[in-house]
Amino acid sequence: MPKFISKSLFLIAVLVCQSAFANEVNVYSSRQSQLIKPLLDAFSKDTGIRVNLITASDDVLLKRLQSEGRNSPADILLTADAGRLYRAKSMGLLQAVQSPGLIKNIPANLRDPGNTWFGLTYRARTIFYSKDRVNPQQLSTYEALTAPQWKGRVCVTSSNSIYNQSLTASMIASVGEARAQQWAKGLVANFSRNPVGGDKDQINAVASGRCDVAIANNYYYAQMLFGGDATQKAAANRVGIFWANQRDRGTHINISGAGVTASAKHKENAVRLLNYLLQDIAQQWYATVNGEFPVKPGVAPDPRIQAWGRFKSDAVNLSVLGKYNPQAVRLLDLAGWR
Ligand code: FE
Repeated sequence: MPKFISKSLFLIAVLVCQSAFANEVNVYSSRQSQLIKPLLDAFSKDTGIRVNLITASDDVLLKRLQSEGRNSPADILLTADAGRLYRAKSMGLLQAVQSPGLIKNIPANLRDPGNTWFGLTYRARTIFYSKDRVNPQQLSTYEALTAPQWKGRVCVTSSNSIYNQSLTASMIASVGEARAQQWAKGLVANFSRNPVGGDKDQINAVASGRCDVAIANNYYYAQMLFGGDATQKAAANRVGIFWANQRDRGTHINISGAGVTASAKHKENAVRLLNYLLQDIAQQWYATVNGEFPVKPGVAPDPRIQAWGRFKSDAVNLSVLGKYNPQAVRLLDLAGWR
């Protein structure tokens, strides 16, 4: 072999080793930087491991991981919704990790049975109502919102939202496809308008009188109530939160979570970082900053969120949200849920 080739091969080998063994970890995150960066900084300070953070939308990150393949610099994929994490796993983008700390600190229903993704916080997708026009005693379940008394009174986002797809998937898992189909049809029949906007827009629509009840994720309500915007706060104050399905399977929940990528060059650091996010203090901060709930048993949510009262959550393993996503999408389409 000519000398210059062997020399450059040697150099390449050194560079590859350096990047593989450098004391760092690379995170692809769809969670906004301000909702994670302070924790990553604390991790670096405590461990000496540098964290490189890249943020983008879920779809962009999944596509990027896929096209980078084995050469991807990413070690961790951090995103919201178990349906998406399931998709990442199905695309072969995640690897299984064996970590007793993750098993011990995360309830079994909030992580992949195959150990490729792990919930870090959870959120509830539940019912919101007008304090002026709805007596919460009239409320009970997602299914009951299909009753004639709610005709023209329900607001919710479009069926393109992974959150509605996951809610529907959870219903398929517990009551079966036929009843989930019936539910979707009945809810669409009670819509106050064609779905428009995000969850905050639905809560605002309840506040302004456009509709009387909405289905939304609890953290959007928390952001409106506890954020600095006086108008949003006033709107949220006219709206109450109701925990759905307390007498049967419990309120639908979902997670923000993470997994180690299939291509990870810093697997050990990645597992260490995931475990770091499960320390009590990290759990508390991570949940509170976005108005969510800590996954770790025994870590209390923010007191302002606790004030909404305790609730029973649907205990189904969240991998079903991914498993039944295709059926959910088809069913929502058939129901005419735009
Ligand atoms: Fe969200």
